[in-house]
Amino acid sequence: MIIGNPTWDEITTHINRHERQLEDLRAQLSSVLMHQRNTSMEHVIGTFAALQARTNVINTANGWAINDVKEIPEKLALVHSEVSEALECYRDAQISDLGAVEYEEDSNNQLKPIGFPTELADIVIRVMHLAAFLDINLEQVITEKLNYNETRGFRHGGKRA
Ligand SMILES: [Mg+2]
Repeated sequence: MIIGNPTWDEITTHINRHERQLEDLRAQLSSVLMHQRNTSMEHVIGTFAALQARTNVINTANGWAINDVKEIPEKLALVHSEVSEALECYRDAQISDLGAVEYEEDSNNQLKPIGFPTELADIVIRVMHLAAFLDINLEQVITEKLNYNETRGFRHGGKRA
């Protein structure tokens, strides 16, 4: 606090001291935010990586292992097929039902999840499997790309959609 009639130097010193305090507070806030972000990312990384690894294990056990890079076009086509299945669900379902997972009994009397959400999951599972074959840490790549996208600005590139 400045009392009386301060000199220019006293005012300048006072302002500089408060600017340093403000910088310290900004640094502390940044540190707290970084810690929160890293903590939440660790949780997600563990979950996502585990799902990717599990996808590879299950697909391999079920006889759908990817053994050669020449199979990549086929696997990409299968991603397309899941997108088409999602489109068919969209065409068949009421809009209000699009977010609901439904179930039907399969030939082994097991409940099979079906519907638009399940087809979206199938798309991700196909992509995870392909990424696992190539030892791609998909979560890391997604995070990196999202970080870049975050910097691109509103409707970047002037595209219509
Ligand atoms: Mg499907």
